[in-house]
Amino acid sequence: VEDKFDAIVVGAGPSGNAAAYTMAREGLNVLQIERGEYAGSKNVQGAILYADALEKIIPEFRDEAPLERHVIEQRMWTMDDTSHTGMHYRSSDFNEAKPNRYTILRAQFDKWFSSKVKEAGALVLCETTVTELVKDLTGTVIGVRTDRQGNPIYADVVVLAEGVNGLVGQRSGLREEVAADSVALAVKEMHFLPRETIEARFNLKGNEGVVIEAMGTITKGMTGTGFLYTNEESISVGIGCIVSDFAQSQVSPSELLEAFKAHPSIAPLIEGAEVKEYAAHLIPEGGYKAIPQLTGEGWIVVGDAGQFVNAVHREGSNLAMTTGRLAAETVVRLHRLGEEMSARNLKDYETRLEASFVMKDLKKYKGIPALLHRNKGTFFGAYPRLISQAMQTWFRVDGVDKKSKEQAILRNFRQTRTLRGLIGDAWSVARAWR
Ligand code: FAD
Repeated sequence: VEDKFDAIVVGAGPSGNAAAYTMAREGLNVLQIERGEYAGSKNVQGAILYADALEKIIPEFRDEAPLERHVIEQRMWTMDDTSHTGMHYRSSDFNEAKPNRYTILRAQFDKWFSSKVKEAGALVLCETTVTELVKDLTGTVIGVRTDRQGNPIYADVVVLAEGVNGLVGQRSGLREEVAADSVALAVKEMHFLPRETIEARFNLKGNEGVVIEAMGTITKGMTGTGFLYTNEESISVGIGCIVSDFAQSQVSPSELLEAFKAHPSIAPLIEGAEVKEYAAHLIPEGGYKAIPQLTGEGWIVVGDAGQFVNAVHREGSNLAMTTGRLAAETVVRLHRLGEEMSARNLKDYETRLEASFVMKDLKKYKGIPALLHRNKGTFFGAYPRLISQAMQTWFRVDGVDKKSKEQAILRNFRQTRTLRGLIGDAWSVARAWR
């Protein structure tokens, strides 16, 4: 390995790959360092790929990338212990020439993305962990140290794409530890079934796919969500909750996943499947208020390391790729102009972020994480139960007249939350949603 590069990228997830690819394609001398055996070997995602973010980096990706199914149907469920109430949106418009969302398997996808990074000319070093950043006497980051190479490797700029924990940044004094109430722990399994079985169970043809996002009593009073995504010959099932909630509860992540899989609305969908993989991973869910310092002298942060996840819409990889691309475009511009990678100049990345959907969306929902966490018993327990009870009262035909049913439903809501509580909840949600 040479000892001086234009840029070093720490990590080969979507954010690091987007950054390394964009810089290498523009002719910069880029070193990317990944601790896993290969890009993707350590990574966990649901996983839905949002095409738009990748299209802006590799427009022809559909011809080459390993994609599973394109999503034609979205199901949003609130669940209690025996039921789900759903909002389903299915449209044949999603069978378009260039579909908007795909399910993917991260290990395969990251490997492909990494091959594009290499093709673009970057040097990719796997099975190597960056242990710390190297600084000069003024505190400017001038390179990295790894667990492999004795000497530091130098670069004009280090792009931290190391994922949610941000350990390199932390160890180097650039950021605080991630707070336990702003990160979720998610567990996920892959359930293998013949493709015909998946297509019959979900009413799909060819490579059409369905995703289910669920919330309610499935998280046993904790702030979190569950999901089920159809792949070509497997179904990904997972559930995640805020880490500080797990710490206070008696329920382990694996127990939660077992209960979710056994739920009467989920069990028939995965019945008879062969379970092959179990994975656990953190997701940054603190939103806008949890974003750490993003740039400094000689360094820049992208992806999960910058807490760029929109938990309300279950988007992460697209924010990772977009922040990776925007950081890279900043670096490329400065490199071309012969400008320093100083904190002042790198601020251009933050300006680009502000103008993009990334910061606009995170700002829009900045109040949501705290609101949900403060009222988890209400939003993940009381309301899902009330909704289910209301549905059951309404749909059961039992000789009770409809007016009386309406009154019973309203009475149940008022007794559980009181009128003041109901108005207060609606007001806080409306304010946080603006
Ligand atoms: P990562 O993908 O975490 O990559 C970081 C990389 O850095 C890793 O390869 C790691 O090995 C490497 N690394 C870390 N430290 C070092 C070091 N010191 N030296 C060298 N290498 C290092 N997002 C979506 O868009 N859609 C979804 O459906 C979705 N579902 C999800 C489901 C689950 C269960 C989870 C956990 C996340 C999900 N996400 C989803 C979020 C998404 O996975 C992340 O936002 C995305 O992976 C972030 O990309 P990244 O490159 O910033 O970080």
